[in-house]
Amino acid sequence: MKTDKYGTKDGKTEVENPTCPKCGEGVLLAVHEDRKHCGKCGYTRWENKEDEEENEE
Ligand SMILES: [Zn+2]
Repeated sequence: MKTDKYGTKDGKTEVENPTCPKCGEGVLLAVHEDRKHCGKCGYTRWENKEDEEENEE
């Protein structure tokens, strides 16, 4: 599956809205500060570099 997540147009590197994995092509996720959200199906993807930082003190 190919998604152009980082479109390099006109020499600009711009993060474009990714496609919703649930809805498929044509439906883009809304990019928020720390997450991406699909307004259609409600899919939310956190872009928080999770997975390794779980420092709770
Ligand atoms: Zn969706």
